[in-house]
Amino acid sequence: MQVSSENKSGRQKVLSDPNTRELLRRLIVNSMPLAPEVGPDGLLHYLTAEAVMGDSPATEAWIEEMLASGILKKTSYKDYVTCPIHFRADPLIQLECTKCKARKMRKTALVEHLYCGYIDADSKFEKGGFLVCPNCKRPIHRADEMRSSGVWYECQNCLTKTSIPKVVFTCRDGHEFNTSDLRLTQAYTYAVEESVVAQLKNALILAPALVELLGSMGYAASSPATMQGRSGTTHSLDVYATKGGEPGGETGDVAIQIAVDAAAVEASAVISFFAKTYDLKPKLAILITIPSASEAAKQINTGYGITIVEDADGSQAVKKVRALLELSGKPKPE
Ligand SMILES: [Zn+2]
Ligand SMILES: [Zn+2]
Ligand SMILES: [Zn+2]
Repeated sequence: MQVSSENKSGRQKVLSDPNTRELLRRLIVNSMPLAPEVGPDGLLHYLTAEAVMGDSPATEAWIEEMLASGILKKTSYKDYVTCPIHFRADPLIQLECTKCKARKMRKTALVEHLYCGYIDADSKFEKGGFLVCPNCKRPIHRADEMRSSGVWYECQNCLTKTSIPKVVFTCRDGHEFNTSDLRLTQAYTYAVEESVVAQLKNALILAPALVELLGSMGYAASSPATMQGRSGTTHSLDVYATKGGEPGGETGDVAIQIAVDAAAVEASAVISFFAKTYDLKPKLAILITIPSASEAAKQINTGYGITIVEDADGSQAVKKVRALLELSGKPKPE
């Protein structure tokens, strides 16, 4: 899927927020959609999101933002029975006798013994903890020897029988409502858009792997990194690592950016990375392009000095970066 570059840069901006990245990482790693749940207060919540975003209003705003930038999509919805006053989704449900209003309805199921065709209330088939047919007296061992043939409710107060008793809901905030005044609240389940999953898998899994690699090679690395350039401008990078470097002297800094696209990564990724590296002047600037870099991207880079690493799916990127670091660590031939 191709996304417009305007939409793409909007996404990049949204994805630079640490909370957004963390929440999306949790959803992707657990391959779990963001689904509504009934919270301790009886209201519907997106608990996974609230754990990262803080509270319900922040989560609602975040979901709106994610939908607008095409990162989340609605997958399905459910209608929840909620109280018309407090919107609580955890009412106590009882069955009421339509005649005497007692809430002492006993459920009776009619079952048929398939062997002899006898039909009676399920309680009649019970004998001393075993199931025995009251007609043919044969013991019943398996559920498939019987068939359900209807359910009714009997009031234990006035003995009225009905198949459709009145349903009464009691809100935990202390009032009752019924099927005619209940409220149905629609709540959506959200999933991370597939193209974003691919992009984030690399950013959220590849970036930490690069930090680990750099750490093992004696660098102090962070991801995502926020760095101040010589101009005073702050730049955000997927990975930034420092090593040695006396003040004023040549540094061993490494800046890494990961660009993922459905097709070859465009020149704009090189240009935006160059704007950062020009200001930060790391010793090594690596742009990892997945699945590849376009010809235009390579061409524009000839004067920029960025090392472009191409990798089909990101799985070999760490190995390639390691080789580059080992090469750059060697003294230059003079
Ligand atoms: Zn209520
Ligand atoms: Zn009754
Ligand atoms: Zn029988």
